[in-house]
Amino acid sequence: MCFFNINIFTIYNRKIKNTFFTITLISAFAILIVGCNQQPTASAPTADMQQKTYHWKMVTTWPPNFPIFQEGVDRFAAEVNTMSNGRLNIKVFAGGELIPALQTFDAVSQGSVEIGHGAAYYWAGKIPAAQFFTAVPFGMNAQGMNAWLYGGGGLTLWREIYDRHNLVPFPMGNTGVQMGGWFNKKINTVKDLKGLKMRIPGLGGKVLAKAGGTPILLAGSEIYTSLERGNIDATEWVGPFHDERLGLYRAAKYYYYPGWHEPGPVLELIANKAAWQSLSDDLQKIIEVAAASANVWMLSQFEANNLSALRKLKEEHKVEVIPFPDEVITALRNHTKEVMDELSSGDAEFKKVYDAYTTFSRDNDAWNTLSEAAYQKTR
Ligand code: CA
Repeated sequence: MCFFNINIFTIYNRKIKNTFFTITLISAFAILIVGCNQQPTASAPTADMQQKTYHWKMVTTWPPNFPIFQEGVDRFAAEVNTMSNGRLNIKVFAGGELIPALQTFDAVSQGSVEIGHGAAYYWAGKIPAAQFFTAVPFGMNAQGMNAWLYGGGGLTLWREIYDRHNLVPFPMGNTGVQMGGWFNKKINTVKDLKGLKMRIPGLGGKVLAKAGGTPILLAGSEIYTSLERGNIDATEWVGPFHDERLGLYRAAKYYYYPGWHEPGPVLELIANKAAWQSLSDDLQKIIEVAAASANVWMLSQFEANNLSALRKLKEEHKVEVIPFPDEVITALRNHTKEVMDELSSGDAEFKKVYDAYTTFSRDNDAWNTLSEAAYQKTR
């Protein structure tokens, strides 16, 4: 029962009694979801380490004030400060404020900043296998990803892979199942995907290409204008909460579901390995617990707010919300298998993670069939 080693009481004994309730609640989340076999190696604390005050910089891949994501990161930094009684101060910089957003991985890896937040699939060009730690088309949802990462060996694999880049990763956020995207024409058959120019990154884009479409890579800030001007025919973004704010309903009429390409994308916290090892055990644990808390908080925000945004899209903005036809879903699922097999054949690391992911996912589905899925049918 090593769960109980999580040091609520160690922290309490540091005489920060006024924050005890906050710490207890946050730690309770972590006790529920942080497995005892998934913890990064902690360094032995010294008296100096326990007295020292740290000032860290944190960069993210998100625009300033980006709801839920950047908000969750700011919340994480504030919680770390509170739980450490001011011994670990993290100054947060959104994408572009200190460095360009997509230099987050390199900056943390090289140690020019100590910590960062983004999504592992942004680094697919450096580490193709990193994509498994964000989302796989037709793969696991948020609950399945948490089960794999915290309880099924996924985080251990992730840490092994990032270790050679001097990084220690943590799950920290999830959008839940995304939407399929915005289209300026109806998708009635597989043929409607042919020649379709769609903003869709990562593995989902490769799958669309197999179906005859043209995946386009665009930053979030470029999506609306490109769709509105007809440079692209379709785009995916996140889900109702974020899509409504970006105003995509003004540029396309048809809003498709489900987000087959991103069924439960995980966001990542990455710490520079040397910076991480310079911390005492209790500060390491505070980061781990605050990341687990943010993981729950971000997913909860999406789950709590998506439906009201969807209602607004339908009722105020007259958006047509449509499921993808079964024929289209079947074709995309088949193309996903082709894409994953091709990527596995040329990359041993990708194959290793694919095998581990697939084995876990199959078992997770088998359990879900008689738990979540069976229960849902009873309501
Ligand atoms: Ca997306």
